[in-house]
Amino acid sequence: MQPHLSNLKPESWLVAAGRSADPGAPLNVPPILASNFIIGQDRAYARNDATPTWEALEEVIGGLEAGRAVAFASGMAAIAAVFDQLPAGALVALPDDCYQGVVGLAMAGAARGRWAVRRIALTDTAGWQQACAEADLIWLESPSNPLLIVADLAAICAAPRKPGAIVAVDNTFATPLNQQPLAFGATVAVQSATKFIGGHSDLLAGVVTTRDEQIWRQLRHSRELNGATPGALEAFLALRGARTLALRLERAQRNALELAHRLAQHPMVTCVRYPGLPSHPTYETARRVLKGFGTMISFDLLGDASVADAVCRNVRLIRHATSLGGVESTMERRAAIPGQEHLPPTLLRLSVGIEDVDDLWQDLVSAMQAAAG
Ligand SMILES: *Cc1c(COP(=O)(O)O)cnc(C)c1O
Repeated sequence: MQPHLSNLKPESWLVAAGRSADPGAPLNVPPILASNFIIGQDRAYARNDATPTWEALEEVIGGLEAGRAVAFASGMAAIAAVFDQLPAGALVALPDDCYQGVVGLAMAGAARGRWAVRRIALTDTAGWQQACAEADLIWLESPSNPLLIVADLAAICAAPRKPGAIVAVDNTFATPLNQQPLAFGATVAVQSATKFIGGHSDLLAGVVTTRDEQIWRQLRHSRELNGATPGALEAFLALRGARTLALRLERAQRNALELAHRLAQHPMVTCVRYPGLPSHPTYETARRVLKGFGTMISFDLLGDASVADAVCRNVRLIRHATSLGGVESTMERRAAIPGQEHLPPTLLRLSVGIEDVDDLWQDLVSAMQAAAG
C-alpha cells in the first residue's frame, strides 16, 4: 500500500487504493490472465501465490476496515473458507433469519457430524453473548436476509469468548461503508462481492476481511487447498465496481428510505421492513450500529401469494430477479424460493437501485394497481 493513502476517508480510499505506484504502470491493475509465472520471484502459481489483480481488490476492501482481505470465487466460497477453520465437533451459532446458502452449508455439515448448530434470534443479544462463551463459530448476519433485522454487533462482539472462537459477520447487506464489524471486535467480516461491491450484477466473488494475521494466513491456505480462487475478470470487475460503491450506495439508500416511507402509506402494503423506519423492530439498534440504513426493503402485501406474484410480473423498470446490490432495482417474492417457505407468503424483497425515485415509485404503484385487478 502507498503510505500517503492511509488516512483517507473511505470514499477516497475506494478510488485511490489498489493501484501501482510505479511510473509507467497501468493506472488500473489489469485482469492478469495467468496461472503460472516465470520462476525467480515470489510468485510461481496463481492458486498458491495470488495474482496482482486479486491483490488490488483485496487491498481496497481490506483497507476499508483497517484489515487484510482474502478474495474468493464467490460469497459462498468465502463463507465456506471461514467454516473450514472449525475443529471437528465444533458448535456453530447461526441466526434465526439468515441467507439460505449459509443455512444450507451449516446444516449439511451438521448432517455429516462435522459440527452442531444452535439457532439464535438476532434480537436476542444476551443469547448471542452466551454463544460467544460457548460456540466455536459465532456466525452473524446483519442486517439479515430478508427480514432486515439489525443485531447489536457492538454488544455481541464485546462479549467474552471461548478461546479460539471466531466471531464472523456477514456484512453483505451493509457493506463496509455502513457497518464495520472488525471495529466492533469481530474476527472476520464477509462480503458477497457479487452484490454491492461489484454493483452491476455481472460477476460472482466474495471477500473475507480480518485483522488477525494468523486467521488471514489460514484463510489464504484454505483458498489454496480448496481452489476457491476468484477469476481474473471477476476480480477486475469487482474492483471497478468498488470504485463507485460510495456514490451508488448513497443514491440507492436515499431512494430506499423514500420508497419505504411511501410504501408504508400505501393501502395494499401491510408491513414495511426497512431498518430506517421508526416502526422497524430494530430501528434503535440500527441507528447505533449502522452508518446508513441500506438499500434493501422487504414489504408484505394485502392478499395472497398470487397478488405478490402478479406485482412481480407487472413491474417494468424494476426487474423481477433475485440477488441484490446492483445499480438496477430488482424484486422477488422470497417465499417462492425453495427452503424459504417459512417466510410471509406475500413478502417482496426489493433491492433499490440508483434510478430516479419517482420513476421507481410510479412503477411500484402501477404494478400493485394491475395486480389488484
Ligand atoms: C448472496 C449472498 C451470499 C452468497 O454470496 P454468493 O456470491 O452468491 O456466493 C451470502 N450472504 C448474503 C447475505 C448474500 O446476500
